[in-house]
Amino acid sequence: MYKQQILSYLKKNKSSKLKLKAILFDMDGVLFDSMPNHVKAWSEVLKNHNLSISKEEVYMNEGRTGKGTINMISQREFGRDATDQEVEEIYKQKSELFGSMPKPDRMKGAYGLLLKVKSEGLTPMVVTGSGQKSLLEKLQKHFPNTFDEELMVTAFDVKHGKPHPEPYLMALKKGNLAPNEAIVIENAPLGVESAVGAGIFTIAVNTGPLDTKVLADAGANIIFESMQELADNWDIIRNDLIYCNTHK
Ligand code: MG
Repeated sequence: MYKQQILSYLKKNKSSKLKLKAILFDMDGVLFDSMPNHVKAWSEVLKNHNLSISKEEVYMNEGRTGKGTINMISQREFGRDATDQEVEEIYKQKSELFGSMPKPDRMKGAYGLLLKVKSEGLTPMVVTGSGQKSLLEKLQKHFPNTFDEELMVTAFDVKHGKPHPEPYLMALKKGNLAPNEAIVIENAPLGVESAVGAGIFTIAVNTGPLDTKVLADAGANIIFESMQELADNWDIIRNDLIYCNTHK
């Protein structure tokens, strides 16, 4: 069912096999249903600064740094980058508001998939542009004993955020992995771009309001409409990987 997608990945990356060892999970919109809070926080704070952002824009730009997002809006509305002071003020307010909101739930289907992946001997890792201080406790609370802190990539580990490939290249480095030894699970177009740029097989889950085509254009190898749909199809993907590795 997914053989074609696997074979075209191998061809494009001049790889003979996908020897799966690790699954690299993005966090917002993949592990946690946190994007609606980000949308609310961005639009409220920007409104107070006489700026506006649509829901689609928040999803389209997910993964960008706070500064990058603020400059994008400032360029559109004022035709210039935001000043350092504006960036600092807006981003601080946005982070505070986001932090004060009811804590987002796990994305439906995410925990089941993680348990399955672990039982298969694969290593789950988190690769996020987030730099929230409470990140570790949050992951430990909702996904107990699932992720190794040493193998995590956050905003503090990289110079360039997504869509630059650095976050996923850093994950490969930390996990001592070759690109064909991992699969990425992403929901954001810029995240998909980053993962594909790092040469990793990328599964997109379209958990937001964007057109599926946006994720396909970013280079996703397979696209699902939810984490649950991905979890339901995981066994088929695993079987197709084995098939593609043995039938040439
Ligand atoms: Mg995300």
